[in-house]
Amino acid sequence: MNAYDSDRILDLIKKNNYVPTNDIKEADCYILNTCHIREKATDKVYHEVGRVKKEFRDKKKPIVLITGCVAQAEGEVLLQKEKYIDGVIGPQSYHEINKVISNLEIKDERINETEFETIAKFDQLDLVHNTNDDISSFLTIQEGCDKFCKFCVVPYTRGPEYSRSPLQIISEAKQLVENGCKEIILLGQNVNAYNFKNKKLSDLLYSLSEIKDLQRIRYTTSHPKDFTEDLIEVHGKCKKLMPLLHLPVQSGSTKILKSMNRNHTVEEYLEVINKLKAKNPSIKFSSDFIIAYPGETENDFDKSLKLMKQVEYINSYSFIFSARPGTPAANLGKIQLEIAKERLSIFQKVADKIKSNYRNGLINSYVKVLFENKARSENKYFGRDEHFNSVIVNSNEDLSGMIKTVQINSCNHNTLFGEVVLNDKPKEYAA
Ligand code: SF4
Repeated sequence: MNAYDSDRILDLIKKNNYVPTNDIKEADCYILNTCHIREKATDKVYHEVGRVKKEFRDKKKPIVLITGCVAQAEGEVLLQKEKYIDGVIGPQSYHEINKVISNLEIKDERINETEFETIAKFDQLDLVHNTNDDISSFLTIQEGCDKFCKFCVVPYTRGPEYSRSPLQIISEAKQLVENGCKEIILLGQNVNAYNFKNKKLSDLLYSLSEIKDLQRIRYTTSHPKDFTEDLIEVHGKCKKLMPLLHLPVQSGSTKILKSMNRNHTVEEYLEVINKLKAKNPSIKFSSDFIIAYPGETENDFDKSLKLMKQVEYINSYSFIFSARPGTPAANLGKIQLEIAKERLSIFQKVADKIKSNYRNGLINSYVKVLFENKARSENKYFGRDEHFNSVIVNSNEDLSGMIKTVQINSCNHNTLFGEVVLNDKPKEYAA
């Protein structure tokens, strides 16, 4: 979502005659768009601002703005501690960025814009053409969260759940497709909680799939509790909807899920997975796990391992629990670091084995790849298959924006390598 927000900030400030630069020394205005989800996010902000300060030691300082969730959570503290920062702008207020910059150009008055103004933000953004011309583009359809998982800062930094109107979304999707986009990834902190006057995510997916030149649709991130029957149904019906779903579970123990306030059991989670598989047998899953959440016993941890083996996630993101200031879980007793590290290592070994078996099993199979751009090396093109695996092929032809059948011939931990099938009529695709 921050990548999307950064692009939209750029679209906004272009209206104020600012242009992006890759050379920090040239900057008149330096905007650091921040994420608060990982540990030490605030320290990184001070470090980055320190870097800018050093660069401009003997020159006129640029306007320095901190945007995003660290600005929202720590705004006043940032302004107090670091005088080099001119303004902080929260993720729901960045439509005000031109006003903030104009004010700073005129008078030396530091600014804190951290109101939750989601409706005004999207109304304002709706007036600015989305100039992103990537083959695969993000599009935010929903923001905020009402779930209040005990470990998470999102409800405090992004505010309550808000869904954009389908009209705004379809119009922006058409802009992206006109710019050359072939794949749209719909974004939301709780994307499947999308609900605009009873129009749900399933309705939106059907409408988007009617945009002729849009080839692929994905959405992330979903909450298991919001997986309604109509949404499960779309996975069997909508051919443009890709068969890889990121469905965070966090733990394989219902006891831990309860203490996290996730509001579902492991059995309910598996029921969603099984229903989706019944609608689309080629669907695969990725997930997030928190290891050593306060109160996690060996038995709870074994249940997470069991779930990992049972679902066979083709990708997973696992981290040792780290407390976010201000969240209820921050007050709970932590598990000893040595034990937590050992559990994480065991967990990641199992996850890696599953991933590597899956990838090796793709060798000699055929996959459909949407090519996004030229890779760094000469005559190599990068794209993704339907399950979002990175694929690289050799080609003398510019493949950007094309969907081609590729025979996979090798892989490493992150990438599949193959050759484009010339007649494009393979015997069978990888399921
Ligand atoms: S559902 Fe996701 S965004 Fe919302 S509180 Fe839980 S982890 Fe955070």
